[in-house]
Parts: sequence; structure tokens; C-alpha cells
Amino acid sequence: MKNVFIETYGCSANQNDTEIMAGLLKKDGFKLVDSIKEANIIVLNTCIVKQPTYHKMNHLILKYKDEFPSKNLIVAGCMPQVIDLDVSCVGPHNIENIVDAAKLVINGKVAKFTDKKYTEKINLPKHNKNQVIDIIQILEGCSGNCAYCIVKNVKPTLISFSKNRIVDDVRKACERGCREIWITSQDNGAYGLDKHDVSQLPELLREIIKVEGDFLVRVGMMNPNNILPVLDDLVEVFKNNKIFKFVHIPVQSGNDNVLEKMKRKYKVKDFKNIVDKFRQQIPDISISTDIICGFPGETEKQFQDSIELIKDIKPDHLNISKFGAMPGTAAKDMKQLDPKIINNRSAKLTKIFHKIALEENKKWIGWRGKILLDEIRRKGTVIGRNFAYKQVIVQGDENILGSFVNAKIVDCTGFYLIAEKSFTWIIP
Ligand code: SF4
Repeated sequence: MKNVFIETYGCSANQNDTEIMAGLLKKDGFKLVDSIKEANIIVLNTCIVKQPTYHKMNHLILKYKDEFPSKNLIVAGCMPQVIDLDVSCVGPHNIENIVDAAKLVINGKVAKFTDKKYTEKINLPKHNKNQVIDIIQILEGCSGNCAYCIVKNVKPTLISFSKNRIVDDVRKACERGCREIWITSQDNGAYGLDKHDVSQLPELLREIIKVEGDFLVRVGMMNPNNILPVLDDLVEVFKNNKIFKFVHIPVQSGNDNVLEKMKRKYKVKDFKNIVDKFRQQIPDISISTDIICGFPGETEKQFQDSIELIKDIKPDHLNISKFGAMPGTAAKDMKQLDPKIINNRSAKLTKIFHKIALEENKKWIGWRGKILLDEIRRKGTVIGRNFAYKQVIVQGDENILGSFVNAKIVDCTGFYLIAEKSFTWIIP
């Protein structure tokens, strides 16, 4: 029996790895199953970016070994690349070895594939979890060396994938009927910096939007220092109708001394300049950012700077992390703050942000326009995205996914907008 159950954690790049591994396994005759009970091979695609996730991965490995001794466990993702595990493994650079690994374990052998340093994850078989959305990774690694980041140890070298092959994958996704393309990596702003002095992201996006078809592009995370030199060009290309008016720019702290200790290569004013420039040129653009609470040595005053920054910028999305020291990072050797202080700061910022998010979403009530229905939600409703990648709850079921509709926003929460019951079709 060749039944495989894949469980995925972490970023969209890791989800993309799962869709490639699923595509390769399916192509080789393995059956993808939706429940662990039906499987004889469990692929656990791990994420170790933060302490809580790291501990959860350890817990799941022990749990699956204990509860399913007769099933074959393969651990994939970032964990096996930096943590020595006594189970079969396929590292993030060895995803093309997933079939070899599956064949080894069903024959009772141990599979260890973590040797490769890099792989271009483009033009490979894919099994999309959501038929509307395709995730396309454009590079591996990054140009940073942030003091808190364990991912740098997993993917140390910046390698940009070939532009033509990326555009080819966008074309193939559209031919498969995908309507939404997620451009992803650890830092999309670093695209081309392994070969050029400045980011080639604007150039790449210009080629992507030339692809025929009704689709929208979500551009993932971009670090401030890498987009600053090409900001005008980037803002210009973001004006194109095929690109969601959404930017994710992780700032991490509102205080320059903390940013310096984090080895982040920009100042708070650079981040503000970028946000201001996008908002001046594209008024309703959605801003997403990240704050780490309780980085070693962060004083109450410095944390207050982060709060003031968020109150000033009023982002649409905010990823709040409680600092936790990760193995093999520079921050691990720094004097840690009391966990109570870290928890209090995270709770305080969360409360402030929830208030901001609700106020910002209330501004959309009464808006009417085009929405792409891209995700199933609870019974009777689906999730759609408008031009600003705002999450909109729409009445309907999985049969209408992939459609463009015209609807009016009648209510909201801090997390999503709510459309009126009736809507009109644009592209069914
Ligand atoms: S830019 Fe920094 S946080 Fe991002 S992956 Fe690289 S080292 Fe980690």
C-alpha cells in the first residue's frame, strides 16, 4: 500500500514544498490521503521558526512514533536540516528525494536526505492544496543575518531562481485554472541580489504581469533594506491591476537600537518612508508588518517605541511574536528578558492592534467592488479577497471558488469584512 498523509506547518514556502512533494509522489503512483489513519507513510513537514512551533514539532514526532509504530514517519521541512533526528528525513533542499525516501521506508529502510545545499523549486510537478491558488517560490535563502533567526542556518545562501522559469510556472498555473499566485520566499526583496547590486523584484513582477489571464498576484514578505533602493520602481509596478494592493514589510521593532542588536539593516524611518510612499501612490493599499516583543535587552521605553510605531502606521495586519531564543542563533547567547515581561508586552500590543484593526476595517463598510473567491470557510460561506487583499466573507460554497464577483461590504470584524448576501457575477 502506498498511501501518504502529508501534514504541513509554517510559511508559504513550506506549503509550496508540500505541494511539490505531493506532486512528485502522485506522479510516481503514491496515493495522497486526507487522514493519518488511512496512511502507511506520514510526512511531517516541519517549521522551527519560533520556539512554540519548535516544541510542537518535537512533540508531534514523539506522538506519531508512539501512536503509529506500524506507520512510516518521514520528517521534512527546516527541522532535519539543523536538528539531528533519529527518524527518516528529507531536508528542505532535498524535496526531490521524497519518492526515494518513501520507497526506502516502505521497504523498512531508513531514509536520510539532507545533503543538498540548494534546489531550484521551479517547473516541478505540483499538487495544489487549493485549486485557485498556486504558490511560487522565487529564491532560496536571504541576504540578511538577523540575530534571532534560525532559518538562516537552514537556508544560509541566497540563490535567486531563473526569471523565465518563474514566469513559466505562472503561465502553467493559469493554464491549470489558478486565479491567485503567491510570490514567496524568505525575503522577496532580495530577488536578484546574488547577481545584481539592487533587487530585481520590480523587473520580475513586470514579466509576471505580462502573462495572459485573469489572475492576481500576492507578493509576500520584503525586507525594508532591500526594497528601499528600488522603491519608486516597485511602487510603480504595484499599481498594475494584476497585483494585489498588499505589502508585507516586517519591521520587527520601533526602536533603532533594538533593530541594530537584531542585525536588521535599516532604521525605523526607512520603514516609515516605504509605507508613506506606497500609501501616497496607492491610497487603499494594505500594510502588513511584524513586531518581535521582548528581544533581549529591550527596555520598557524601547518597547513603547514599537507601540507608538504601530499606533502611527495603523497596519491592516500585524504578526506579533514573543521573542524566544532559538538554537544556533546569536540572540541565544544574549541575556534573556523575564518571560512574564515578554508575555505582558505581547498581550499589550495585541490589545492595541485589535482596536486599530477594527477601526481600519470599519472604513470599508459601504465599499462595493470586485472580489476573488479563493478559499472555503465554514459551511455556507467562502473567503474572498478584494484588490487590497482584504479578507471578505461571502455567502456560498466550494462550487463558486475561483469566481470573481461584485459585492458590497455591509459589516466587519477586526479580522475580516462581511459582504451582503446577494452579489453579482463578474467571471463565474
Ligand atoms: S532576513 Fe533575517 S529573519 Fe529573514 S530569513 Fe534572513 S536571517 Fe532570517
